[in-house]
Amino acid sequence: MRTQFTRKFGGAIIALLVTSLIAIVSIGDYTPIKEIKASNSHVIVCSGHDPVFNGEYMTYGKQSPTWEDGLKIYEGRSCQLLALELTEKLIDAQIDVTYLNPYSHKLSLLERVTEVNKIFKIDKRVLLISLHHNAQQTKTAPYIDKYGQKGYLSTADGGATGIESYTSVGYTESDNLNNNFIIPELQKEFPDIKFRTGHKTLGKEANFYVLTQTNCTAVLIEWMFMTTYTDCLIISNSDYRNRYTDAICRALVSYDKSRAIRSGKSITKPLDIVA
Ligand SMILES: [Zn+2]
Repeated sequence: MRTQFTRKFGGAIIALLVTSLIAIVSIGDYTPIKEIKASNSHVIVCSGHDPVFNGEYMTYGKQSPTWEDGLKIYEGRSCQLLALELTEKLIDAQIDVTYLNPYSHKLSLLERVTEVNKIFKIDKRVLLISLHHNAQQTKTAPYIDKYGQKGYLSTADGGATGIESYTSVGYTESDNLNNNFIIPELQKEFPDIKFRTGHKTLGKEANFYVLTQTNCTAVLIEWMFMTTYTDCLIISNSDYRNRYTDAICRALVSYDKSRAIRSGKSITKPLDIVA
């Protein structure tokens, strides 16, 4: 199994390692600002699930199998890191941002939605971005790890792949953000990754709790499948992760500018000197 596995995916693993090495990651840099810009959006970034804390994964399920090479994705941990990365990039782009769940305790869906609505009540610029990884039914999947968790090795054995980006059912401002900004940027950034579109629109629609119970514009992105090994290689690759959060950040910056154009507001204001 191991040699067959290595032979099959060795090339892909090496390619991903090389792209990781040449990736220039700017996270952690301090970029001084010359002028304070007023952003027209206040982005609330939400990691879709609770992370690992105190030696325990705080979310039930929501993980990949342990693959033959030891790789395993915990959705809550991976999305926590992506959310932090996106938050940092938005700060750098001078888009107002709040990271919704930086806690060491679980945050229920109700608590998340209540918090978003509370912030939206006092700040109508608020919009929500919820980050997730996808999963498919694995009853017929051929791979089983030592804990009995199943998965697919690639699309060749039935594994699902790609990106889905959701809004609530029906046309709202969320569809504008999703179809005209987020999805085009993701498609431009990842032309080789399958984009799983909706029936009539680019974005998919579903009545997910965080999409229907929040009063603000809200988009939920499912980035790659944890149940497919070849997708997990992408999820765990720092170059892909960096490009993913870069693409969302670019989309939000363009959306922010479009909001300024629509409202006819100036998008910059002079730097106030505060003693
Ligand atoms: Zn999820």
